[in-house]
Amino acid sequence: MTTDVANAASGIADELGAHIDVEQPEIEQDLEELVDDYKVPLEEAERAVRNDLLDEHGISQRELNQDEAPTGDGHPEEFDPTPVEAIDTDGEWHDVAVDVVDLWEPSHPDMAQVGLLGDETDVIKFVIWENNGQVPVELLEEGESYEISNVVTEEYNGRYSVELNASSHVVQTDNTVVVEGVLAAVRPGSGLIKRCPAEDCTRVLQNNRCAEHGDAEEGGDFDLRIKAVIDDGAVAQNVVFDREATEAAVGMALEEAKGLAMDELDTSVVADVIEAEVLCQYYAVEGPRLGENVLVDEFSERSGPDEGLLQTLRERVETDDAESTVDADSQPSEAAA
Ligand SMILES: [Zn+2]
Repeated sequence: MTTDVANAASGIADELGAHIDVEQPEIEQDLEELVDDYKVPLEEAERAVRNDLLDEHGISQRELNQDEAPTGDGHPEEFDPTPVEAIDTDGEWHDVAVDVVDLWEPSHPDMAQVGLLGDETDVIKFVIWENNGQVPVELLEEGESYEISNVVTEEYNGRYSVELNASSHVVQTDNTVVVEGVLAAVRPGSGLIKRCPAEDCTRVLQNNRCAEHGDAEEGGDFDLRIKAVIDDGAVAQNVVFDREATEAAVGMALEEAKGLAMDELDTSVVADVIEAEVLCQYYAVEGPRLGENVLVDEFSERSGPDEGLLQTLRERVETDDAESTVDADSQPSEAAA
């Protein structure tokens, strides 16, 4: 009997440990009292003790369903991140090392925060629900990096998300980097783009189609960005200027870019203007690293510390350009014809 009570107590402690600061001996004592003194069947005693604890600590059954944490509270020293792309099963617990890619307006009053987390493998939606009006874990900031232990996976219509709850442990990490060098290439996907207008989706549309939601209604939402390569002579780093940074770097507002594209009946004209403005300029940019990219939070345009390096890089960019345009320079007779 004692073993049964101990097992039952251990089961309850495991189940509720993530929410309630309660030790197994306490639970065991409560169970023993009911079973030994009041002759309550063990199963019934278990239920009573468990419900009492939940009531006492104001934990709802719904939270509990979400929070069947396997290891109780988060132990950062055992932090063992799962790559985001490997999350493919409902109801599993993982640690993740991620950046906050995007936050958007919660669609439900009990939702404290919702957005997109990403590592170098993939991005995944996350959500934080309030518990009886309380936010169970610290809220995340866009563009910041975190090591988060104990998130639980959820599947909805074949898509996975993770939930942060009272058993999650959040540690902010610093992933801000500074990149300085010549803007050596403007990559495809730069300029005036359209994003999917569906709720919780910011995917870039290709031919007005979202990879997730199909044809975009009402044509999608215009946005502006520069995907570029900044080369310091040793390392070529992919960077992304968001709308704000792009507007500042190019001196062209989104509305202006839309007008230009409308006049020309062609959005690629915007990418051309951007390229003419930023290519071969010397930049110092600062922002969080997200996978292969550095997201530009701040930048300054400089003359560069070393004219010699600048010249070498500019020549290299020009050579690359020449090569990519089918050796235009090496065939002067054809070009002249
Ligand atoms: Zn979409």
